[in-house]
Amino acid sequence: MAGKEHSGRVAAVSGASRGIGRAIALRLGALGAKVICISRSEEASAKTAMEIEANGGSAEAVAVDVGDMGAVGAACAALLDRHGAVDILVNSAGITRDGLVARMAVDNWNDVIAVNLNGCFALTRGLCLQMAKKRWGRIINVASVIALVGNGGQSNYAASKAGVVAFTKSVAIELASRGVTVNAIAPGFIETDMTAALNEPIREEILKRIPMKTFGKADDVAAVAAFLASEESGYITGTVVRVDGGMVMT
Ligand code: NAP
Repeated sequence: MAGKEHSGRVAAVSGASRGIGRAIALRLGALGAKVICISRSEEASAKTAMEIEANGGSAEAVAVDVGDMGAVGAACAALLDRHGAVDILVNSAGITRDGLVARMAVDNWNDVIAVNLNGCFALTRGLCLQMAKKRWGRIINVASVIALVGNGGQSNYAASKAGVVAFTKSVAIELASRGVTVNAIAPGFIETDMTAALNEPIREEILKRIPMKTFGKADDVAAVAAFLASEESGYITGTVVRVDGGMVMT
């Protein structure tokens, strides 16, 4: 895609301070959208917003914990007051708290569900009605290939992301007749802070399972998100697009 396909659109991107969310925010900004960069820290989101503006785009930073339903509801109401509409929502905020289920702390289960799944619900709930009324909207949820195949040590994360996939399909059905598409992206292993913590032997093991023999880049995911946010993707809804170098073929 080239040019300013997203001009005139307002896009809210959670997890925009780092990694995949940051790459998506930068790309939507470069394509002309006004981008609301959301993370827990205003300072961190502001760095992405400033980068978008330095590239000639338009952006603002919003600090909200997506796991806090009340705070997300208030933030969505404030966004709609300020901008009139939010046309594109990208749910990319996510965390991991890995551990075997038998030893998993209840907080580690709850925190992952709260951020990855409840956060996706809270932002969608806060912004989808005005999209439906406007008869145009794009919701893109960043899930994971782990939702499709599971992963030992990540039962909380896998459950949250499988929830995101099922949520995506259900909301896609609810909003299909209103011009609002709802899709998920399932990245495989992408080079970000989240995967930087993996040690070398584990990385080697993972690489053996990736036919393309390399981790992906945040931009690989951003390119798909920009397409799913575009006018041209209007007949695609309820789908899960894998961006995984061929790792999981379902
Ligand atoms: P990352 O580099 O760790 O970035 C996570 C982002 O989420 C940061 O911007 C962080 O911002 C934000 N965030 C975390 N908790 C939040 C909360 N409670 N409220 C608001 N924002 C919060 O992760 P990433 O690798 O880019 O992952 C992005 C998404 O892709 C996640 O949903 C992840 O599960 C998914 N994914 C990643 C991979 C991968 O290989 N990297 C693979 C599959 C799926 P602050 O810390 O500033 O709040």
